[in-house]
Amino acid sequence: MKPEILLAHLGSFRPTWSEELRRRVAAATDHFVRAEPLGIDLAPFYAPERQQYHATLLLAELLRHLPASGGRIVGITAEDLFIPVLTFVFGQAQLGGPAAVVSVMRLHTEFYGLPTDERLLVDRAVKEVVHELGHGFGLVHCPDRSCVMSSSTYVEDVDLKSERFCTECSSLLVAGSATTPHT
Ligand SMILES: [Zn+2]
Ligand SMILES: [Zn+2]
Repeated sequence: MKPEILLAHLGSFRPTWSEELRRRVAAATDHFVRAEPLGIDLAPFYAPERQQYHATLLLAELLRHLPASGGRIVGITAEDLFIPVLTFVFGQAQLGGPAAVVSVMRLHTEFYGLPTDERLLVDRAVKEVVHELGHGFGLVHCPDRSCVMSSSTYVEDVDLKSERFCTECSSLLVAGSATTPHT
């Protein structure tokens, strides 16, 4: 059985669509996904001069909360994330690493002055969580614009892609698990 993925809701983030997110991430990654709150203090990761949270430092903290037996963790937050070289990031993961973090702040239509569209928000959140998990599985960015591993600079890029791995990326995932020794 594949190790589980913990979808950790950070801070006060408790969306009504949490179960749908969990289910769709499980379907797209073919892993068991558990969603639950993770009561860590986000204050140490806040950069007041930027009014954002430091994604890389937050990732390091999430590594301390990995599920048992080789599982993965994806922190999901309503707060805005950054890394020092970029204005913002939708999410961050280590290539081949077990931790990732995703912010939904810039996935809201309201952030761009548009009416609320919860369907679109959930679609975007699924794609970004699956994308960061893909990096954790060792996948790099994919030139196929419909593949979930396609890179997203703007939210429009997120809307262009699907929540699925393309044939090429899927075969790399299969190859990766095929080389994992069975014990
Ligand atoms: Zn990426
Ligand atoms: Zn791909």
